[in-house]
Amino acid sequence: MTTTTKYIFVTGGVTSSLGKGIIAASLAKLLQAQGYRVTIQKLDPYINVDPGTLNPYEHGECYVTDDGAETDLDLGHYERFLNVPTSQANNVTTGRIYQSVIEKERRGEFLGKTVQVIPHITDEIKARVQSLGNSGDYDIIITEIGGTVGDIESLPYIEAVRQLRWDLGENNGIVIHLTLVPFLSAAGELKTKPTQHSVKTLMESGVQADILVCRTEHDLPHDLRRKLALFCNVKEEAVIQSIDASTIYDVPNLMLDQGLDKVVLKKLNLKSTEPNIERWNQFLKRHKNPTSEVTIGLVGKYVELQDSYKSILEAFIHAGAENEVKVNIESIHSEYLSSDNIKLKLSHLDGVLVAPGFGERGIEGKIDAVKFVRENKIPFLGICLGMQMAVIEFARNVLKIKDANSTEMAPDCDNPVINLMEDQKNITEMGGTMRLGAWDCDLKMGSMARDIYKAESIKERHRHRYEFNSAYRTQMEEAGLVASGLNPDTGLVEIVELPEHPWFIGVQYHPEYKSTVANPHPLFVAFIKAACNYKKKHKNATLAQK
Ligand code: GLN
Repeated sequence: MTTTTKYIFVTGGVTSSLGKGIIAASLAKLLQAQGYRVTIQKLDPYINVDPGTLNPYEHGECYVTDDGAETDLDLGHYERFLNVPTSQANNVTTGRIYQSVIEKERRGEFLGKTVQVIPHITDEIKARVQSLGNSGDYDIIITEIGGTVGDIESLPYIEAVRQLRWDLGENNGIVIHLTLVPFLSAAGELKTKPTQHSVKTLMESGVQADILVCRTEHDLPHDLRRKLALFCNVKEEAVIQSIDASTIYDVPNLMLDQGLDKVVLKKLNLKSTEPNIERWNQFLKRHKNPTSEVTIGLVGKYVELQDSYKSILEAFIHAGAENEVKVNIESIHSEYLSSDNIKLKLSHLDGVLVAPGFGERGIEGKIDAVKFVRENKIPFLGICLGMQMAVIEFARNVLKIKDANSTEMAPDCDNPVINLMEDQKNITEMGGTMRLGAWDCDLKMGSMARDIYKAESIKERHRHRYEFNSAYRTQMEEAGLVASGLNPDTGLVEIVELPEHPWFIGVQYHPEYKSTVANPHPLFVAFIKAACNYKKKHKNATLAQK
């Protein structure tokens, strides 16, 4: 639509966790809804090459793209809002920047020069930002800079923004600065000082904010907006309030009401029209007006931190809206589950999801949970480690292979029903070496999976090292656990299901990464539907008993 690619840089002040990712995604949605081709990129100032080696307690879930990049969870928001896949290029960390600069140095590409933060690191950052723009696939690139302005680790990024604004020329690159406007309840007042200070900090690095997005608990009155505009060198129309919302899916409409898209487009010298967000609003309407509710147990070991299972929780929101039901999630810590308390913890649930994970902690609880839902015919969805636990449970309790295990937990076990693939055995490095990204999967004729996906073959995203051991497949299938999805090239088992059970599916991949507002994931939609049916049946059975 435009001849030059335009750039929007989103920075944050005072504190991180102000919701830059959601603001970026909401703005992108509004621009996309006016016909612009938009993508979002996240720059993370930490030294890990990617978040793949990080514990979920650090930055929440690790999100995975089709091309197998292990990325920040904000990319999940971008995909869920825009319904456009992201890729490795959409997430860059300081670690990756340094890694490529150092590799270039080793190859002699700097021709004997001293390699320095400015210009070499900043040039690499600029190249990474512009590589998306140069692809020709987008009209607008929104680059979100993680962390807080003023932090030592953010400095090279802010310097790169300063240079890029200069290189790109007026109206081609703008800066949105997110700040907090705290409310002091004792004084009954909203305070503008933190915003003034962080705009000043940004200016000390030579970057003037064009637009302020102010996170607030209360409406910003007119005089306060005027004051902020005056002190921060922005137009009054460029002071945008971001009031706390009950759901992140309200934020695009809140930004529309505040005119964020209009100010942005004006600054970029682009045409602005009325965004068409009808489909989005239909989703919101269904999400906010459920006709019934179900309760799903989420069995995992990182349940203390909601962000650890971000994409799963969001996929439930999409699937709930699709079914017009409210999905209540009950987090269940797998470490505290045992055969003694399992009935108490699970019997009231309408469905159970056993979550992905790594390592031994909490796995016996997961196996107990699978046994309970299998025997009591409660709908079950097992994802990745959750699927592996379902296979182990079936082997132990149905096939009576008592020592069945995964070699991840018991490297020398005699019955490794889950084990490492040959090509994983010699890998010693941890980062980026799992089976990652989108892989093909053929669905078995007549299976539940095929019926749910309404397709013969699918592509889903993976992030794991261990696999279903095909040596046990025949025994498993004869006893009733069917491999209903297979990788066509390797024969690896991607889906297992129990035809004798009303709804029991384990998937080796992560369906949650592909669920979006526009395309709720079919497995989650079907799982919630099964939970509704279970609830109805259960209620009728209890009534009949009375
Ligand atoms: N730890 C398991 C594996 O590596 C499962 C990983 C996951 O749940 N994402 O195979």
